[in-house]
Amino acid sequence: MLKLKLDQVTPLQQAAASAATETCFAGLVLPGGTRNGERDSLVADLRPVPDDAYLVRTATAATLKPEFCSHLANQAKHHSAGVLLAHTHIGNQPLDGFSMVDDGGEPPLAAYFNRRLPGRANLTAVITSHQVHARTMGPGLVQPVTLVGTELAMPARPSSRAAGTFDRQVRAFGESGQLALSMLTVAIVGLGGTGSVVAQQLAHLGITRFVLMDPDHVELTNLNRLVGAAASDIGRPKVDVAAEHIKRINATAQCQTLQGDVTHPDVAATLTAVDFIFGCTDSMASRAVMNQLAYQYFIPCIDMGVAIGAEGGIVTYIGGRVQMLSPGLACLVCTDKLDSEQVRREMMTPEERSKDRYIVGEQVPQPAVISLNSQVSSAAVTMFLSAVTGMPARARMLTFDAMRGTVRPVAADPRPHCIVCSHEGALGQGARWSLPTRGDAR
Ligand SMILES: [Zn+2]
Ligand SMILES: [Zn+2]
Repeated sequence: MLKLKLDQVTPLQQAAASAATETCFAGLVLPGGTRNGERDSLVADLRPVPDDAYLVRTATAATLKPEFCSHLANQAKHHSAGVLLAHTHIGNQPLDGFSMVDDGGEPPLAAYFNRRLPGRANLTAVITSHQVHARTMGPGLVQPVTLVGTELAMPARPSSRAAGTFDRQVRAFGESGQLALSMLTVAIVGLGGTGSVVAQQLAHLGITRFVLMDPDHVELTNLNRLVGAAASDIGRPKVDVAAEHIKRINATAQCQTLQGDVTHPDVAATLTAVDFIFGCTDSMASRAVMNQLAYQYFIPCIDMGVAIGAEGGIVTYIGGRVQMLSPGLACLVCTDKLDSEQVRREMMTPEERSKDRYIVGEQVPQPAVISLNSQVSSAAVTMFLSAVTGMPARARMLTFDAMRGTVRPVAADPRPHCIVCSHEGALGQGARWSLPTRGDAR
């Protein structure tokens, strides 16, 4: 699967509709996550080829100079990357797919790049006003294309669904939206107060493939807010309780359960194979991992947090936040939601922690109330529906103030030199960079 940045491709598609000649684009291809034994290909930056690099450029054909191809191959070699060569098919009713001209021109290109960059993912693509088509340079295998940004546009594939069950929501986001939901593998990281609500709602919505992660067991003090759990579940892993609850709602759902912490490298690696992540933990260290993963692997994540502040028995703050992390959107570093000092403390071993002079006393249990958790979780799921089905709910960051009774959208721009979400940072680096997990720090 080829993953591209939605905000880079959309303008190219619009320009292709009214262009007079074909335009070529080039980008470096880096290896992403592995799903079903196949590696994703990530292209973080797809740039137009310089005007003087064309040998031929007409309305129906474009050929590039050998010097340009050589320069591109050198660049790719330097970055241990493959190459993507894309071109447009112009007009409002373009030839939607590779043409015979494309088929004829590709073998020499493939021979050249596969010789210069052996073993790499070298790809070609056609961009039209409607679609992006991609394949292994050859012509070789068709590569499904996913566009990732404020929305997640995955290639449609046939799927069955239980007729009737979803009639009321199909009226809200259409058959295509329901189909998009049924295709996704969704991870829920943290199955506590917010994660258990998200799990229940996703099961009702028709998500069928889940990855559930949480290291903890159900405790007596969780029962006031753990949706789907009863007193008889005390002592059981939270992931098992969640999986059981999901299957009660949808018997055909598949749940992969992982009783572990996302800050451990093996657990985090599992997330690189999913399509969408819900961040439902209350730790900064786990947020740091999911934040980076979203941009590094082009896997959108919706992070949420709920807080009730109390001092001396008096409640001083009740609020929450929902934020989508995806290429083109500001990350948690850009919105100042990651406290690097706290990340550092949470990553410590118990031994290190006992020696750290900045940590005073034991952690005090925080107040938590099911109604507020549910409100924030519901907003997160609605944001997800908008991103996946196109349901028109545009906000990608929301803050809640329950004391004032307000919900506000927040506009946040990515910082140009961010270490996570910019081209200078982790964006699109895929498997080439490590994640900020324990004992694997970069
Ligand atoms: Zn073509
Ligand atoms: Zn950022």
